[in-house]
Amino acid sequence: MPGDTALPLATTSWESSVETTDDGGTYMKAIAVIPGRPNSVHLASLPKPSLAEVPGGRGVLVKVLRVGVDGTDKEINAAEYGAAPKGFAFLVIGHESFGRVEAVGPNVTELAPGDYVVATVRRPGTSIYDLIGTYDMTTDDTYFERGINLRHGFLTEYYVDDPEYIVKVPEGLRDVGVLLEPLTVVEKGIAQAFEIQRRLRVWRPRRAAVMGAGTIGLLAALVLRLRGMDVTVFGRTRKPYLNSNLIEGLGARYVTTTELPIAEGAAKHGPFDLIFEATGASPVVFESMLALGKNGVLVLSSVTGGDRTIEVPADRINLGFVLGNKVMVGTVNANREYFELGVRDMAQAQAEYAGWLDQLLTHPVVGLENYAQLFETLSTAKGAIKVYCRVAEG
Ligand code: BGC
Ligand code: ZN
Repeated sequence: MPGDTALPLATTSWESSVETTDDGGTYMKAIAVIPGRPNSVHLASLPKPSLAEVPGGRGVLVKVLRVGVDGTDKEINAAEYGAAPKGFAFLVIGHESFGRVEAVGPNVTELAPGDYVVATVRRPGTSIYDLIGTYDMTTDDTYFERGINLRHGFLTEYYVDDPEYIVKVPEGLRDVGVLLEPLTVVEKGIAQAFEIQRRLRVWRPRRAAVMGAGTIGLLAALVLRLRGMDVTVFGRTRKPYLNSNLIEGLGARYVTTTELPIAEGAAKHGPFDLIFEATGASPVVFESMLALGKNGVLVLSSVTGGDRTIEVPADRINLGFVLGNKVMVGTVNANREYFELGVRDMAQAQAEYAGWLDQLLTHPVVGLENYAQLFETLSTAKGAIKVYCRVAEG
């Protein structure tokens, strides 16, 4: 096992790495970056984890089958953020996992070998929110996220974790299970919106808007349709294309902002009781604030790492919020509760819009050793909705 004294260095090719550890264990491949060094994505090797890493006989060993990649992975490889775990020079990336349980410790009752599972991303810190299982709401400045910050991720062959962080996915959702983690980001945002709206004593959201038609925007449109709302999705790309077809397949509306800007779209299809912002472009936030209906709630989910500045109609936005009793809320990450909610919505989606989720899985790349192709696809593929690595079959 790697100790704090010896920094295990990433090997640049799997072929040149050793296959057994000092204590007779085996090594496995992983896709890793050297945090702080741009474009450092490479194939690393690290010891296969053992059940004993989790105390109290509570370890769960999972064989990784598929792992999705997204803008976060791109930004980590661009060295915009991301940190290696203590004792390591590299960070294994990948936070959108899907796998199958291989073995469990003697005190695990929740899961059994053969179960399909998805792991949560964040691990608890020390704030009061972390202590009650809502680690996605941590107020700690340093947070731990597998594949992102200070904890290795899932673009590898196996991982071990506590059942608290591993959510069972029914076999019938096996083909789309890799979409669960991105779905949880949406689940949390929408659940938080409903929670906040209890302030109204009665809230009957009828019209919703989604800003952005990327993976998160599509999943938000799905969940809002499952909640029975009239949904308008605003996107830049002219329809028809796969994403607009998928949106219309849900019985939602797709609006191209170059033809119908957000303000006009809101006048025509609003007022919006709920808006889910997922464009990645912060100016859209202010347009959304103006498009929000009275008593409405605006959910912000774009992680905007830059330092863009714009001029906004501040008086008008403020007045609308004050006179309209509106709310805006930021949301990041998701805890176990939202993963369980996501599983239920996936099942309902497969029943109501059969095959819809499968169509999001546009760009598979086979094998960890094809990490360069994985990143190439992530940054250049036209029309990609979900790029993912098929780590192993099963
Ligand atoms: C992940 C979240 C994570 C966030 C910020 C997103 O890509 O899906 O789980 O909290 O990045 O690190
Ligand atoms: Zn992500």
